Amino acid sequence: MKNYDVVVIGGGPAGLASAISSFDNGVKVCLIERETRLGGILKQCIHDGFGSIMFNENLAGPEYGQRYIDEFNKDDIDCLLSTYVTNIKKEEDGFTLTYVNNKGLDYLKCKALILATGCRERTVKQVDINGDRPSGVFSAGTAQNYVNILGEKIGKNVVILGSGDIGLIMARRLTLEGSKVLDVYEVMNHPSGLPRNIRQCLFDYDIPLHLSTTVTKVFGKGRVEAVEVCKVDEQMHPIEESKQIIECDTLIASVGLIPENELAESLNIEIDPKTKGPLCDKNFETSVQGVFCAGNCHHVYDLVDYVSKSGITAGKAASEYVKGTLKQEEKISFNLPSKKIFDPNKLICIMCPNGCELEVKDNEVSGNKCERGKKFALDELHNPKRSVCSYVKTTFKDRPTLSVRTNKPIDKKLIFDVMKLINDITIDRHVEVGEIIIENVLNTEANIIATSKL
Ligand SMILES: Cc1cc2nc3c(=O)[nH]c(=O)nc-3n(C[C@H](O)[C@H](O)[C@H](O)COP(=O)(O)OP(=O)(O)OC[C@H]3O[C@@H](n4cnc5c(N)ncnc54)[C@H](O)[C@@H]3O)c2cc1C
Repeated sequence: MKNYDVVVIGGGPAGLASAISSFDNGVKVCLIERETRLGGILKQCIHDGFGSIMFNENLAGPEYGQRYIDEFNKDDIDCLLSTYVTNIKKEEDGFTLTYVNNKGLDYLKCKALILATGCRERTVKQVDINGDRPSGVFSAGTAQNYVNILGEKIGKNVVILGSGDIGLIMARRLTLEGSKVLDVYEVMNHPSGLPRNIRQCLFDYDIPLHLSTTVTKVFGKGRVEAVEVCKVDEQMHPIEESKQIIECDTLIASVGLIPENELAESLNIEIDPKTKGPLCDKNFETSVQGVFCAGNCHHVYDLVDYVSKSGITAGKAASEYVKGTLKQEEKISFNLPSKKIFDPNKLICIMCPNGCELEVKDNEVSGNKCERGKKFALDELHNPKRSVCSYVKTTFKDRPTLSVRTNKPIDKKLIFDVMKLINDITIDRHVEVGEIIIENVLNTEANIIATSKL
């Protein structure tokens, strides 16, 4: 049986940062990932907005992930892909892991373990919706996977339930892909996504957001034909008289994320009822000595940069545990990220997740935390600009899409013309991140560049 100092479960940004950090601290590391490629959820997050803290850049998800994958590949770290960890057993001298892959069932041993298994989506089944169960009902992350990774069209007339960031981002993606996003319904009296996403994903495309309203019924034999929506009172009970039927063929639920805890629970790790992830100390060590956790499986982070930071801390701590130099610390309940409430009357900067509220008087900008905000505010008043993120088709069956973006914002009016050009391209060759796919698109001086590797 193979023996390691540290085993990391999960090859997303948290797992990659953990593995690199443990390795850099001088221990023998193995990373296990159930999918065929490293990168975790970032592979399907082809929009930009990643890396503002770690790189001071506005990167697309796969681009951010690739930076860590490149660093990971330079190190002498063992990596098992397409491999699923099914069980962990605590032994006197460490842990025995059971895993399965195309070679069958196998085991390995380690002294310390880092759980970096990410989070899972709450589904429509977990919210109270009556009626039929036809096809055409997706969770936002599943819809994102179909559209961005598999290049599928998922529906023509779409209703979105929940104003979480994934739902908002999918509202824009589906609009760019030619679907009509009819409405977004949010049961709370305020939106739950970031203000910048409400501005750039809904307002830019005139998609209505209905607060204190929810979907109460789904209709359809075979495929979704309509949904029933209802306003809710202060106790969130549906107000019968407000019932309305909306014809649509697709319902997307963006109703929250919860840490993926199956493995932690199998080790009887104490769970924090607030975050729904393992209760940890500042080193991200759980209630079981030698087991650490990082990223969204600890608590659902809003920014990937903080996910990477948690991985760096957990990775270093796990390697110190192996060397016998880690100090035991008190367990602490981490605070969940707080969110600004969106004010539709304010000019919200979309240049980074800070979402500064800007004011412009006589061409003087205030409220901005950085120079990018100043430029954004002036552009927004005179000539609004946006980045375009999408994918081009490929001829490769196992990788039907290659994510791309404009390397700088372009005139907002040109977005759909640029999308037409992007949709006409099919790639049949190896491509590196940053490679130019269309030069000086529509004479905007912006290039369309690849944001993932093919
Ligand atoms: C739709 C969406 C939009 C987002 N937008 C932004 C944004 O604009 N800016 C930003 O900064 N952040 C954004 N985020 C947040 C950021 O992407 C996530 O916080 C981050 O990717 C989480 O990283 P992770 O490594 O914890 O989890 P993941 O990326 O989910 O990785 C977990 C990995 O563990 C693997 N795994 C799980 N269980 C097992 C097992 N038993 N055996 C083997 N492998 C296993 C999974 O296959 C997966 O690859 C967004 C997130 C989502 C979902």
